[in-house]
Amino acid sequence: MKVAKGQCLCGAVTIEVPGECVHDVSVCHCNMCRQWSGGPLLAVECKQGLVMHGEENVTHYCSSEWAERTFCRVCGTHLYYLLLETQTYELSAGIFPDDRKRLVSQIYVESKPGFYDFAQRTPMLTEQDILEQFNGS
Ligand SMILES: [Zn+2]
Ligand SMILES: [Zn+2]
Repeated sequence: MKVAKGQCLCGAVTIEVPGECVHDVSVCHCNMCRQWSGGPLLAVECKQGLVMHGEENVTHYCSSEWAERTFCRVCGTHLYYLLLETQTYELSAGIFPDDRKRLVSQIYVESKPGFYDFAQRTPMLTEQDILEQFNGS
């Protein structure tokens, strides 16, 4: 199986995930992601098979009851948002050097500020859409 390798800016933390995880990028426009990262969060998803090296260099911040946000405490690179209940990792797309990425969805679109837009056409989900999907599955 092909493995995709990502790392933080200083290299103290490296993360490996199954290669197919890193191609599909989702954008989160919510207020918390924007405050955390300075802009919308561009993330790739990994549900299993994640391996992290340099874990002693990361800090976890519980941003809500159901999720934590993890970053390198040496260089500050945002590594991932982890949904605790399902152990789903939403990893920063930017830590993986992969040219085949494509934008596949945008969420919390009702929170997107007016000063930017992405040109790509993707499904545009509101918080309500996400909750309905979650409850339906
Ligand atoms: Zn670092
Ligand atoms: Zn968000």
